Amino acid sequence: MNNKTVLVTGGAGFIGSHLCKMLLEKGERVICLDNLFTGSEENIKVLYDNPNFRFIKHDIINPFFASEHIDQVYNLACPASPPAYQFNAIRTVKANTVGMINMLGLAKLHNARILQASTSEVYGDPLQHPQTESYWGNVNCNGIRSCYDEGKRVAETLCFDYHRQNKVDIKIVRIFNTYGPNMDPQDGRVVSNFIMQALKNEDITIYGDGNQTRSFCYVDDLVKGIYLMMNSKDEFCGPVNLGNPGEFTILELAKKVIEVIGCDSKIVYQDLPSDDPKVRKPDITLAYNKLGWKPSVDIDNGLINTIKYFRKFI
Ligand code: UDP
Repeated sequence: MNNKTVLVTGGAGFIGSHLCKMLLEKGERVICLDNLFTGSEENIKVLYDNPNFRFIKHDIINPFFASEHIDQVYNLACPASPPAYQFNAIRTVKANTVGMINMLGLAKLHNARILQASTSEVYGDPLQHPQTESYWGNVNCNGIRSCYDEGKRVAETLCFDYHRQNKVDIKIVRIFNTYGPNMDPQDGRVVSNFIMQALKNEDITIYGDGNQTRSFCYVDDLVKGIYLMMNSKDEFCGPVNLGNPGEFTILELAKKVIEVIGCDSKIVYQDLPSDDPKVRKPDITLAYNKLGWKPSVDIDNGLINTIKYFRKFI
């Protein structure tokens, strides 16, 4: 048996829970760490019966000492929706600095490979469109999004410094907007907000004029990309963009959600939060060339599955 022991931090979160499930299906032993701030045991309780799965409530801001050898670490632990990561901005910075150092230290100790879940937010309000990995970004270092954006940037810096100084085996993926089942209906992100509002026939809240764009990737596609990156050739550290290049304005998304659900919701406009990026679309050439990865689920099918999941909260 050469199945691996894999640590997934943030494993009870939206993306983390899908990743744990997929790793178990591949026969890996999974240790899931989560402080349950935005993650939820609801997302992982279906995995509890699997003898290869273990959940430990733990915040990566505190060191973690594994009682067995760890082969791979997926570091996903960090609140990811703007209201969640701004709720306690200092903790968000800590997760991305102290937490990142703790996980890199663990990877070094175990001689494990570590994959860091970075983000399209490292590009900030981008002046290059679509965004390639070589673009250095346009980021405010002292705004309300900075705890996340700059936190994720320094987390990448730490990965590369541990790689250069301590030969830690690192992989970095930059995740663009992702949606699907297991999203927290209350987390304040656009897809979850719009679907919940539409299902309740409430007003759909567009922040700003709705002309800002995002590109939405279905979670099943994303976790396949994350897994391929973790198991890619030694010499390829990334960073690599993972996202769906299909770009929509937020107004287009609102109309699509209304159409798919068939509700009577009206669109209302509210203030745009500061530093809200105007455009975002991944260039995924590198992911395709290095990993053979591209998304396959289009927005209509992805929304249908996601809406089905959200109905149970109504
Ligand atoms: N947004 C919106 N209405 C909402 C929630 C979000 O118009 O109820 C907008 C938000 O201002 C941003 C986009 O949708 O322009 C995506 O927001 P989200 O919080 O999902 O993620 P972001 O990409 O900004 O981190």
